Parts: sequence; C-alpha cells; structure tokens
Amino acid sequence: APASRAAMKKELPERFRSYKNVWVFIEIEHGEIHPVSLELLGEGRKLADKLGVELAGVLIGGERAPLAEASTEVWEHGADAVYIATHAALEHYRNDPYSRVLTDMVNEFKPEILLLGATVLGRDLAGSVATTLLTGLTADCTELAIDDDRCLAATRPTFGGSLLCTIYTLNTRPQMATVRPRVMSMPPRQPGRKGRTVPFRVSLREDDIVTKVLRFLPDRDSNKAQLAYADIVVAGGLGLKSPENMQHVRALASVLGGDWGGSRPLVQKGWMPADRQIGQTGKTIRPKLYIAAGISGAIQHRVGVEGADLIVAINTDPQAPIFDFAHVGVVADAIELLPALTEAFRKR
Ligand code: FAD
Repeated sequence: APASRAAMKKELPERFRSYKNVWVFIEIEHGEIHPVSLELLGEGRKLADKLGVELAGVLIGGERAPLAEASTEVWEHGADAVYIATHAALEHYRNDPYSRVLTDMVNEFKPEILLLGATVLGRDLAGSVATTLLTGLTADCTELAIDDDRCLAATRPTFGGSLLCTIYTLNTRPQMATVRPRVMSMPPRQPGRKGRTVPFRVSLREDDIVTKVLRFLPDRDSNKAQLAYADIVVAGGLGLKSPENMQHVRALASVLGGDWGGSRPLVQKGWMPADRQIGQTGKTIRPKLYIAAGISGAIQHRVGVEGADLIVAINTDPQAPIFDFAHVGVVADAIELLPALTEAFRKR
C-alpha cells in the first residue's frame, strides 16, 4: 500500500540519500550499440525528467572499442552525460571485469537508478552487479515509472503472465532493472545534440580476472537475434498441424525479406528452436507487418506482438481471439493460403 511504502522509504539509510541521476548501461555488440540501450535512453529520459536529474549512458570497453562514436549516439538519443571506462581487459565482455568496473563506477558516482537491457549480456551483468552492491534488481520489466515517493516503480509479469506486479527497491540504492528488447519504443535521434564526457579510472589487473577468452566461435544461426528487430515477421501456430508445414512460414518470410517465428507449443513439440518463440516467455516483437498463421491469439502470445504496426491473422475459426486485436483478419486454411501468398509475392 502507498502509505506503508512511504513509511519504509523514510528508512532509506543516510549513506544512500546522496544517490542521484539515472544511468543506462550501453551494450556494444559487434562494434555497435545494441538497440535496447537506445530504447532505454528514451525511457531513462522520461524518468530523469520526472525526478529533475541527469540522464547518463555508461560505456565500458577495450582500448579499441568505438567509444567516441558511441558517445555521440548516446547524447543524440537523449543522454546528458556519458561515463566511460576503458581498459585492455575490457576488450571482450567477461562477467568478472565488467561487473567489477560497473560496481566501482556506481560506488564512485552514485546513480539512483541503473537500467540494463534484458539481453544475455545485460542479464548476466545486472545480476552480479546487484549482488555485489547488495541492492534490488527487477528483471525483465515491461514498464517503468516514478511514483509519488520518487521511487522507481518497476512492473513485470508474474505467475506465468496472469498478473503484473510492481516492484520497489525501498531501502538500498541504486534501484536496478532490466528491460526486454522492443518493449520500449526507440526515441528519435537528435543529430548534433551533445553532452558531457566523464572518464573513469579503471584499476584492473588481468591476473585478477578468473575468466580468459581463448577464441570466438561464429554463431551458427546469425539471424536469430534479428527476430526482435525484423520489420516483417511471419509466425506459425498449432493450426499448421505438422512441423513440415513450417516451411510455408519460412518461405513467406523469405520472399517478404522478413524473419519467422511461432507460438510456444511449437517449441514444446520440437517444431522450432526456443529462440524463435514469440510472446511473453519468448521474444517481444514490434515489426511493421506481423502475419500470424494458425495462431489462436492467447494472452501470452498477444503481449509479445501487440506493438506491431499491422497484424494480419489467418485462422479457420472466425471466433479465434486473435481476431480481437488483428488489424486484418482472414478466415482461411493457412496451409493453403501461405504457399499461395508466397507465390503471389514471388511474382511481384
Ligand atoms: P492453439 O491455441 O491450439 O491455436 C491454434 C489455432 O489454429 C486455433 O485458433 C485454430 O482455430 C487455428 N487453426 C486450426 N487449423 C487451422 C488451419 N488449417 N489454418 C488456420 N488456422 C487454423 N504462447 C506463446 O505463443 N508465446 C509465449 O511466450 C507463451 N508463453 C506462455 C507462458 C505461460 C506461463 C503459459 C501458461 C502459456 C504460454 N503460452 C505462450 C501458451 C499460450 O497460452 C497458448 O497456449 C499458445 O499461444 C497457443 O498456441 P497456438 O495459438 O499455436 O495454438
């Protein structure tokens, strides 16, 4: 209840009261900023404005990392400042040096809120930083806000998605949260916008780091990470009846220059890999066009796709729940319609 929350907030220990500003950890992937970090800058800007504090991006990398270009991009997406830590030992992501440096930066500059993308790297880093700092972390948030007590209200699905819970970090700082890619919208870029650079002196010795990078192996399915950011996505559901019919989904996606995925039961049945699952426990997508074939439109699927600009549903049942939120509904057999659509687009 708000009353007891306010009472508990008064107990915030003295040492945390000087914590100020909103920080976003900027993830760099293959030399480029991961889009989720820019989405978080857009959200962080709103939180910082509500609190009347500064928004900063945190860049950590090796001496060859493109941190100058990244700083420009961070300012142009709304940050007032960029905190930079560079060191040879930070060339590639490893949990121990990265979490040590980010923890040291937090202890020195004392941000009130620290946000990270809920990517593989972000989840790994956020967990160890929060543990070392003995502070709270709300993982996989779908909504962030500042409440009347100036506390971060971090909302995430719980109990298998049947409830949304809002979590507060009351007695420690920083308040930390990870947010899934594509849940927040991308802020517009403001070319020429500039901010401050704050360098951080890194004290690390390679000998103190327990993990060593021996070599990198290329990702076998280099496309899989693209699904969340594809402009066109075609997905299949149980209505396709057999794993062989997933070829119709892949073929239409390919001819449209998009990516493909499916509903959760297809992963459970082994018809497709887990990283192609769309929905609450899979990927959140925001394509310009989403074609759902043989998918009923259960709430757990809907929450992952409702950010799409145009949803086209193909289903034999005119009462299927997907028609409640699809923009275009086609009552048809997807096993027949998908190849016909592929053929028609191929000819164009
Ligand atoms: P069904 O619900 O069986 O629907 C099949 C549809 O195909 C029906 O509407 C039918 O009318 C139609 N159909 C049949 N034949 C044809 C045909 N020839 N042509 C066209 N249409 C046809 N689900 C997800 O998708 N993503 C998630 O992330 C997810 N997370 C979950 C998390 C939890 C904790 C739980 C409990 C469930 C989760 N689910 C998730 C499962 C979800 O509740 C549904 O069970 C699932 O989305 C249903 O998948 P479906 O639409 O493919 O199958």
